Amino acid sequence: MNNCQRTLVAIKPDGVQRRLIGQIIKRFEQRGFQLVGLKMLQVSEELLAQHYSSLHRKPFYPSLLRYMTSGPVVAMVWEGHNVVKSTRMLVGNTNPAEAATGTLRGDFSIHISRNIVHASDSAEVAQKEISLWFQRSELIDWECCDHGNIYHP
Ligand code: UDP
Ligand code: MG
Repeated sequence: MNNCQRTLVAIKPDGVQRRLIGQIIKRFEQRGFQLVGLKMLQVSEELLAQHYSSLHRKPFYPSLLRYMTSGPVVAMVWEGHNVVKSTRMLVGNTNPAEAATGTLRGDFSIHISRNIVHASDSAEVAQKEISLWFQRSELIDWECCDHGNIYHP
């Protein structure tokens, strides 16, 4: 497979509280992407400070920290051809009011402060986020039995 990538997806506390875990995972599975890491965690402020290091000076940063630590998060690593960009398209615009119907944010959320899911925004950022959120031993290298039907051999 060319352009095989991995990306970090996290179901935020509102997505978990609203029992959307199954519906969100379903969208990645039905597309054909492959799950290589999955865990539920209570995220620490230290991890979030690194994860959102580019947003520290934003006025919404304190409330973003409160939101992201308000309950458990489900973190996942998905693998596949062009998965970083495809995932951003599947997740939709940061502001759900601008997110297209059919995207996760467009289908399940209304306000930018509660947009249910995180996804890495570039291949480079994805690598950094995956190593921040997951130990190497928590990621599984495996080949799915339907690989030949998803990709040209
Ligand atoms: N956010 C917010 N208010 C804003 C902009 C962003 O609460 O005005 C939150 C929102 O949860 C968003 C996160 O900060 O998902 C990270 O912002 P970013 O611009 O990286 O958007 P994303 O990559 O999540 O689409
Ligand atoms: Mg971002």
